Amino acid sequence: MSEHYTQSTESDLKYCPRCQRRTEHAVSAGRIGRCREHAAPRFTQKQQRLADKRAEALREPNLPGIE
Ligand SMILES: [Zn+2]
Repeated sequence: MSEHYTQSTESDLKYCPRCQRRTEHAVSAGRIGRCREHAAPRFTQKQQRLADKRAEALREPNLPGIE
């Protein structure tokens, strides 16, 4: 099975074993990617940004006041 997508293709329907049905999959650079249905973010974009910031702060080894 060799499906090819044009550069302008952004999504395609493909069977997703996790969703157990055909779902919309992201296509990027001519290759099919992740299922868009079950990959829906748990957080809103704003909440996700805050969560990312917190995770980054936890990884940051040079926080002022911590040695
Ligand atoms: Zn899925």
